[in-house]
Amino acid sequence: PLSNQLAVFGHPIAHSKSPRIHQAFGHQLGIDLRYQAIDVVDGNLAAAALRFQQMGGSGANVTLPFKQDAYKLCRSLSANATRTQVVNTLHWRGDHWFGDNTDGPGLVRDISERHRQDLRARRVLILGAGGAVQGILSALLDAGVDTITLANRSPAKADALCDLIGEPARVKSLYWQDLADAGHFDLVLNGTSAGVQGASLSLPFSLLTPRTLAYDLSYGPAATDFLAWAKAGQCWLAVDGLGMLVEQAALAFALWFGQTPDSEAVYQNLRTTP
Ligand code: NDP
Repeated sequence: PLSNQLAVFGHPIAHSKSPRIHQAFGHQLGIDLRYQAIDVVDGNLAAAALRFQQMGGSGANVTLPFKQDAYKLCRSLSANATRTQVVNTLHWRGDHWFGDNTDGPGLVRDISERHRQDLRARRVLILGAGGAVQGILSALLDAGVDTITLANRSPAKADALCDLIGEPARVKSLYWQDLADAGHFDLVLNGTSAGVQGASLSLPFSLLTPRTLAYDLSYGPAATDFLAWAKAGQCWLAVDGLGMLVEQAALAFALWFGQTPDSEAVYQNLRTTP
């Protein structure tokens, strides 16, 4: 049992649902595990990860604001993490941390399997250009989307993500003030933290059609404002990021234990008992 020591690193971390999700996965599969939330108060992820590993820690999730730091910590990386340069899952491989990013694949699974939306040839608009958006770009491209348009309040950050991905024909940036003239999209993703801060985005309805999937990466009250806008604009479906949260966790669990949990049961449980 000592080897099944897991954790999530972040700051703040008190309200993380990850311990509950992973305990439920372990329970399902009969795997005895201990999963703790570690608040990296001093901002030093490397030191916190070292202490955790010396105490027997073998795997961890990493959340805001340490996903870039986690990337730097790893001596080996998945293809996805190599391309996005952000890591949300750590796995101790005997003498070093291996890093993966399951946020993007988790989002793709939620959209294509739970919401049954084919991502191939879709025109995607992403609002925001922070760590979460950086982490999902590669998986969306791999899923076959046609183009990704990135609009961020601070345009330099969107430009930097376009440069990082390096596919100018498929990933472009757009000034926020030009959203009203940008036409409509098949998928509109809110990757900003505006909702978490209680701010409103004031977006034009012209971004939506009756076939558009509007998706907020955040969940709970933080997603309310964006989802209300999308419903008022009569999109096809407006959903929050709870499914992505559960799917990224299921993929991390599979990396650590080689077994895939039943994510739907845990998703339904979180929906009915937040
Ligand atoms: P960051 O702090 O890295 O980035 C925040 C982004 O939001 C920036 O692009 C910022 O723009 C933008 N922003 C903030 N406030 C406003 C505003 N009032 N108007 C317009 N843009 C704004 O955060 P993350 O990328 O890590 O996280 C973003 C969201 O994604 C969070 O809500 C988080 O909960 C969610 N998330 C969900 C996951 C899931 O599993 N469902 C996984 C990971 C994240 P600027 O650059 O101009 O400051």
